[in-house]
Amino acid sequence: MGRLKAYLKSFMLWELLLGLRLTGRYLFAPKITVQYPDEKTPQSFRFRGLHALRRYPNGEERCIACKLCEAVCPALAITIEAAPRADGTRRTTRYEIDLFKCIFCGFCEESCPVDSIVETRVYEYHFEQRGEQIMTKDKLLAMGDKYEAQIAADRAADAPYR
Ligand code: SF4
Ligand code: SF4
Repeated sequence: MGRLKAYLKSFMLWELLLGLRLTGRYLFAPKITVQYPDEKTPQSFRFRGLHALRRYPNGEERCIACKLCEAVCPALAITIEAAPRADGTRRTTRYEIDLFKCIFCGFCEESCPVDSIVETRVYEYHFEQRGEQIMTKDKLLAMGDKYEAQIAADRAADAPYR
């Protein structure tokens, strides 16, 4: 009986009809395809894109070289070297993130006690030369300077949930 049923189903192209029924169901449904890059989906204020190092409003860099971000990074993507400055404060002399290693987990920004290292909404980038995947301190500070308004707004939006 089972074999006869299977034979009849095969003869009537039953699987094909099932497939067509599924196709028909979605034929007139609202389309959700996004025409990237002309269209973009909304981003969360917690979006984890390219990193940035922030400064205080007076221009002083926030990072105090505590190395918590380096310690917490599961991908060992962060390299920090530090030394005391002439005024006795401690600052990084080298701060690098290897984007080939980074998995954009966000642990670095969560661990930072002074809101220095953050991840921005920037996700459109590419590399053309070997070594460009290293985000140096200068690049990170430049990112922070460029996107500070957006970063500050995102941190403020996130504050009630922390
Ligand atoms: S986002 Fe995660 S993997 Fe990337 S540098 Fe920060 S802690 Fe490391
Ligand atoms: S970015 Fe933050 S966590 Fe990392 S070394 Fe600087 S102050 Fe410490």
